[in-house]
Amino acid sequence: MKIRLFKGDITQLKVDAIVNAANSTLLGGGGVDGAIHQAAGPDLLEECKTLKGCFTGDAKITKAYNLPCKYVIHTVGPIWRGGQCQEAKLLKSCYKNSLKLAEEYDLESLVFPNISTGVYAYPKEEAAEIAIKTVLKRSSKLTSLKEITFCVFDDTNYKIYQERLNDRL
Ligand code: ADP
Repeated sequence: MKIRLFKGDITQLKVDAIVNAANSTLLGGGGVDGAIHQAAGPDLLEECKTLKGCFTGDAKITKAYNLPCKYVIHTVGPIWRGGQCQEAKLLKSCYKNSLKLAEEYDLESLVFPNISTGVYAYPKEEAAEIAIKTVLKRSSKLTSLKEITFCVFDDTNYKIYQERLNDRL
């Protein structure tokens, strides 16, 4: 399993699937969700409307339309409410369920954004710890996936991931 770190816009990546940090309506929003819908074009929203939303911690897959990737896996991260509302468990589920869907679709390459660390205000260190642990723990059991990229967008997350992934890159 190849683990990569990329700093920049997730919508530019030509991989099998990018993960979207969506909200439970799946009808678009700001941040990475807004950027993905903007780049994919209006057909993505039309397909998302047929999905009837998504629970926090779950994931659903769509085509990617005008994006250079093949699929978008939409997952809904938890809103940070202080840490006593199952945030860690739910964030872990986002990564687990996204990996599961990618394997079901036989995908080889997948990119994760830093789910919940924007508007949903999950502390970045803790979120990175969960993201990396969850992915690495499962990496030996994955069959179709050959390459997983963590896409960071801000300097803080870049530093955090660089330090934590140091010996895996
Ligand atoms: P959430 O509601 O899950 O917190 P946000 O979109 O607000 O979702 O933020 C999630 C992460 O995505 C943040 O770390 C933010 O910096 C990052 N982000 C925003 N735009 C992009 C983009 N175009 N590509 C990759 N990451 C992005």
